[in-house]
Amino acid sequence: KVRTRFAPSPTGFIHLGNIRSALYPWAFARSQGGTFILRIEDTDTERSSQEAVDVILEGMEWLGLDHDEGPFYQMQRMDRYREVLEEMKAKGQVYPCYMSVQELDALRERQMAAKEKPRYDGTWRPEPGKTLPPVPEGVQPVWRFRNPVGGSVVWDDKVKGRIEISNDELDDLVIARPDGTPTYNFCVVVDDVDMQITHVIRGDDHVNNTPRQINIFRALGYEPPVFAHLPTVLNADGEKMSKRRGAKPVTWYRDQGYLPDAMVNYLARLGWSHGDAEIFSREQFLQWFDLDHLGRSAAQFDEAKLRWVNAQHLKAMADESLALIVGDLLKQRGISADARLPAICGLFKDRCDTTLVLADWAQRFYVDVTPNADEVAKHIHDGVRPAISMLARMLEGCPWTKEDIAEAIKETLRATGMKMPQLAMPVRVLVMGTAQTPSVDAVLSLSLREKVLDRLRSA
Ligand code: GLU
Repeated sequence: KVRTRFAPSPTGFIHLGNIRSALYPWAFARSQGGTFILRIEDTDTERSSQEAVDVILEGMEWLGLDHDEGPFYQMQRMDRYREVLEEMKAKGQVYPCYMSVQELDALRERQMAAKEKPRYDGTWRPEPGKTLPPVPEGVQPVWRFRNPVGGSVVWDDKVKGRIEISNDELDDLVIARPDGTPTYNFCVVVDDVDMQITHVIRGDDHVNNTPRQINIFRALGYEPPVFAHLPTVLNADGEKMSKRRGAKPVTWYRDQGYLPDAMVNYLARLGWSHGDAEIFSREQFLQWFDLDHLGRSAAQFDEAKLRWVNAQHLKAMADESLALIVGDLLKQRGISADARLPAICGLFKDRCDTTLVLADWAQRFYVDVTPNADEVAKHIHDGVRPAISMLARMLEGCPWTKEDIAEAIKETLRATGMKMPQLAMPVRVLVMGTAQTPSVDAVLSLSLREKVLDRLRSA
């Protein structure tokens, strides 16, 4: 049974690059009938915050990345880590190291001077026949993991292929600090064991931790899970996406009117592909998703592309579904919509790339608009005023359908000898505030008659 997890550290507001590392393990679990687990890695108490946790939870909920187990918080599992540490002590898999910070620094400097890679030299590692230095008084030791000597750690990364790291490159990792608190790599492995994770899908910034973690898995008596290390997501400038470099929190996109399915579609393509499919539904994605088609090279975030994907999803949505979203947005603005809203959404959805833009259009049907001054100056002048007032008269008693309104407009054109745009443009400006709208008969038929007459007469 597949069991995957997303294990974010709540040390900053989660951005699109981070949440992609949630999407793939979620999709893999869902597509395999497996279990998806959420684990909050909050052991860096200085930098972790509840606000950051909230953005993770809200962002995942918005995107529909539902978890089956958790959220687990590492800070609530400290007793468990201590318990495992005690077991490892009992088995001699860890040993106390009393090397002081000064001694470690001196060691590092000696190694750097000799052009060696800095690594712990095993001074305190017990070996048969070896005499350890005298234990200094009043010093609490760190606990180091007895890394295997010789041989190498090998794994078949689902993204990067076969990776082999010689054990000689891995020194004895500190897994508990002098006060007994466990370190990062140790917690991750204890959790992945306890949570029975079968596939670790995460950012490739962790690929250096993996051989160390694999050795700890084996020391605990478990075979490591399958690993898939995802390439970085780059920002528009080609740098690693990060909050420091202006990446926005996931929830920002929700607030900007992006659709969760469009976002899932866009993020899915940012590091995975299914032939040349660009636009797909959540269901299609889950049907197609596999670990074999994860991309090997860094993907670049492209806001224009995201907007385009969003527009495609928006266009394809049913008018009624859009009206629910837009109705909520209008309500937030203090506007209550009515039965016209689905048709209004239908009329404008082709020209909108976010639901916010769509709401801006819909809003014009419910509140007084201030016509754009330049467009007023351009389209409304004495030459068109007689035609506008004639149209107003014709619309007074006309049945309020698109066809009848179109007929009234045609008749006005016939009577005045004007061309369609000469009349349609000023009417749009008066009623909608701008001439950049769909056909005038459609727009008028969705506007309230009283409002239309009022606006036409104002000219
Ligand atoms: N907490 C780590 C991070 O946010 C992820 C660790 C993991 O997936 O193993 O980068």
